[in-house]
Amino acid sequence: MKNNCLFCAITAGEIPSFKVYEDDVVLAYLDINPFSEGHTLVVPKAHSAGLLDTDDATLAAVVARVRKVAAHLKDVLGCDGFNIMQNNGEAAGQTVMHLHFHIIPRYAGKAFSFAGEKGDMDKLKALAERIAF
Ligand code: AMP
Ligand code: ZN
Repeated sequence: MKNNCLFCAITAGEIPSFKVYEDDVVLAYLDINPFSEGHTLVVPKAHSAGLLDTDDATLAAVVARVRKVAAHLKDVLGCDGFNIMQNNGEAAGQTVMHLHFHIIPRYAGKAFSFAGEKGDMDKLKALAERIAF
């Protein structure tokens, strides 16, 4: 696996993903254990472990993409809001040690918890095909 890192392997195409957006800086794809419909990860192509290991220019470029993808998700999903989550360190719940931002769409009146449930792969595939840009 590239860099012995799951998200580097996805960027390298060694492992498939449900792609939502890609440019020179990031790859964004659906989280396979979504907290809500459209839960998307925005992942820089360059490896760094977390917020404190990432240089300012890269971080600024990634955050600009987080906003771009979030704006798109709001448009196509019709969600009422969204949470941005970014975990650092095992103690904070980080499980993949490659910087990533969660965009978690929120729907007014819909039950929600910050606990992922294993997604239905066919539904995730169909959703990614519908919302990719
Ligand atoms: P974190 O807990 O912030 O490190 O988040 C890692 C996220 O990656 C979790 O929400 C996982 O569900 C998600 N994840 C793990 N493997 C994959 C994968 N192959 N494709 C998409 N998301 C994944
Ligand atoms: Zn990596």
